[in-house]
Amino acid sequence: MTHFLFGQEMRIGILRQYKVSKISLTVERGVYDVYADTASVTRLIEGDKIQLNYYNSRVQVIKNGLDLKLTNKVEIVPTTENSVIQFNSVQPSFKTRYYQDGLEIKASSGNLTLVNLVDIDNYLGGVIESEGGGGRHIEYYKVQALMSRTYALKNLKRHEKDGFQLCDGVHCQAYHNMLRHTPSINEAVKATSGMVMVDNRNSLITSYFSANCGGQTCDAAYVWNTSVPYVETFKDTFCIHTRQATWEKRISKTQWDTYLNKEFGFNRLPIGKSDERYSFIQEDRKAFFIHPSLGVPLRDLRQEFNLKSTYFSTRLEGNEVVLTGRGFGHGVGLCQEGAMNMAINGFSYEQIALFYFHNVSIIDYYRGQFFNQHEEKHD
Ligand SMILES: [Zn+2]
Ligand SMILES: [Zn+2]
Repeated sequence: MTHFLFGQEMRIGILRQYKVSKISLTVERGVYDVYADTASVTRLIEGDKIQLNYYNSRVQVIKNGLDLKLTNKVEIVPTTENSVIQFNSVQPSFKTRYYQDGLEIKASSGNLTLVNLVDIDNYLGGVIESEGGGGRHIEYYKVQALMSRTYALKNLKRHEKDGFQLCDGVHCQAYHNMLRHTPSINEAVKATSGMVMVDNRNSLITSYFSANCGGQTCDAAYVWNTSVPYVETFKDTFCIHTRQATWEKRISKTQWDTYLNKEFGFNRLPIGKSDERYSFIQEDRKAFFIHPSLGVPLRDLRQEFNLKSTYFSTRLEGNEVVLTGRGFGHGVGLCQEGAMNMAINGFSYEQIALFYFHNVSIIDYYRGQFFNQHEEKHD
């Protein structure tokens, strides 16, 4: 079988949330060969349609109303570059999607497992458009490409038991379609092709990010109890005048008190100490509410009261505790609004990445220490 892939091929489990049992595929562009358990079944040209059904733990292939094959595995292999398949729902219903490159279909636990065999850069284009949408600066898209590629290559075994590498949901990286509307995303992916971030031991990093850090990034240890050397806390002045830079939330005093009394024994504290719950000031990011000795992680308060961030102060107004906060998200690693602002202000994607991740290098994954483990990239 000929594969027209020039970079690395990824195996992405798609349409995962639908549990597809019947699906119709139409060739949008290119020519495909269809194989059933490695035997050639038919060739599909532009406009051709086939239906795949789950049937008795196997896959039924139907073309023009004719039952072509009942098989364990179907492969739909592109014979031309830039091939695209349109996915139309039969059962259950979903919005029409388009995917580049090839497809593998198997039957498992009552439905079809659909795996997109896709060039890594085509995959990344779809991911960036699915996650971020349009209208961003190209250097920002390059940072996203760098982070998504690093994530993908670090997590190749995440769905090993399911028969593919990564799923198409937020569990891995959202991938709801091929890239369709934003040519600059394609440019950004191509311009950074192969580039990833590694730590000082040459391991791929975990590319943490959140929407807005509130002017100071958060130490990973404050959120997950484990420190990560390349995402320590530091000041970020690029995000403080943006949309999600500040927030306010009012919580009834009763609700606030009940939680702190019940979960952390504030009712047993001396009055002076206990009353600090209404006048907590957080100038610099902290891990704990009031004082570490009280044992109240700010991340617990964030979760309990559904707060935008852990970076907040408190004051009392009548029967309400007013929380004034900064930032949106956990605040660890890259700050998206800060990074967008840096891009608009002329910083390169390398400068942006190295501002948020420390003691890391940006390298070509397919060269250097990975050279021997992977096929050389075609230039
Ligand atoms: Zn996943
Ligand atoms: Zn920030």
